[in-house]
Amino acid sequence: MEIKAIRGFNDILPNEIGKWQFAERTAREIFEGFGFSEIRIPILERTELFSRGIGEATDIVEKEMYTFTDRSGNTLTLRPEATASMARAYLEHQLHTFDPVAKLYCIGPMFRYERPQKGRYRQFYQIDAEVFGVENPMVDAEVILMLIHFLKKVGLERLELQINSLGCRACRPRYREELKHFLLTKSFQLCEDCQRRLHANPLRIFDCKVETCHEAIANAPQVIDFICSECQIHFDQVKKYLERAELTYILNPRMVRGLDYYTRTAFEVVSYQLGSQNAVTGGGRYDNLFQEIGGLDIPGIGFAIGMERLVSLLPKDREFIQYPHLFIAALGEETMKEAYRIINQLHLEGIRAELDYEEKSLKSQMRRADKLKAQYVLILGEDELKRGKAVLRNMENKVQEEIPINNILNTLKEKILRD
Ligand SMILES: [Zn+2]
Ligand SMILES: [Zn+2]
Repeated sequence: MEIKAIRGFNDILPNEIGKWQFAERTAREIFEGFGFSEIRIPILERTELFSRGIGEATDIVEKEMYTFTDRSGNTLTLRPEATASMARAYLEHQLHTFDPVAKLYCIGPMFRYERPQKGRYRQFYQIDAEVFGVENPMVDAEVILMLIHFLKKVGLERLELQINSLGCRACRPRYREELKHFLLTKSFQLCEDCQRRLHANPLRIFDCKVETCHEAIANAPQVIDFICSECQIHFDQVKKYLERAELTYILNPRMVRGLDYYTRTAFEVVSYQLGSQNAVTGGGRYDNLFQEIGGLDIPGIGFAIGMERLVSLLPKDREFIQYPHLFIAALGEETMKEAYRIINQLHLEGIRAELDYEEKSLKSQMRRADKLKAQYVLILGEDELKRGKAVLRNMENKVQEEIPINNILNTLKEKILRD
């Protein structure tokens, strides 16, 4: 029986990879320009890192983690997100003793046991950026500016920044009680999951996709009306800094974000590019996460971009595939030897060249060059070879010229650079 990939696990094929590499390359360039450094963290962690960091009463921890026991009896989990691991690494290696401020990013796969659907996988990819150690609202705006700059740079259009404040440990409990109170009067409308959430974590009900839950929560009290004066001041400052950075935003009081650890600033960027509203990315401040995982009281803020969604929104008219610069069509045994010499020389100089390993007819070699979308074809025939010449054909305008073989590298470099 033929072995296939596991449900929800996806191959990213060579014809798609250009978009991924472009997005990753751009992220690295821009983030590093903003003073961020890459960090690579393990894919496996102890389960308690996520159950404590993300929160027990969240969908991720309750239903979506890939958790198993290894041969030594440890309970391990494939990382469902990157922030908790990055915070763990920051604490474990005492990065704060070198500099209390850490600006870190991470690109890689995450794992969640969700129902697979089009464009949604159980192994999915994220670009994450986090700042640890700064409470100043200036950094909230800075992180958002970097995010928007990145999204525009990769070509996303019609973006809308939405922000909200989720309060802090001092003021959110009061809001939770108020929300619970309100929802208790509507509990008959809530789905089974939300009945449970109502007691464990009522804020999660905002994320429920069930229609009756939506209706139940429509007129619920909003967290923004319950935040304490410190949170209010922080939020006002964030807005001021956004304005100074010339970023427009709208307030979305219904945005609560999916994870427990968020405090104060929460944000999402949506795109109207495909007509309807598409959430591209989101993030926020999390000033309690470090304490939840057993560390010091260190503030943090960051965002995660879902790569699958991002890649699907990249401009359609842009070329992301790297086609060969040159296809070498060689005819006969002697010319094949020469073709081998030339192609090696070109590859060492970074020119993407292909040839036919099976010594087919010129016609079939030209067909293959066409299929591979090679920019040029170098035709090596025995007669030309004797004269030290070869024919170079521009596949776009079909113009052919005879060029000296010993100068092939320079000729090609010149042409490819010019195009
Ligand atoms: Zn507060
Ligand atoms: Zn529900």
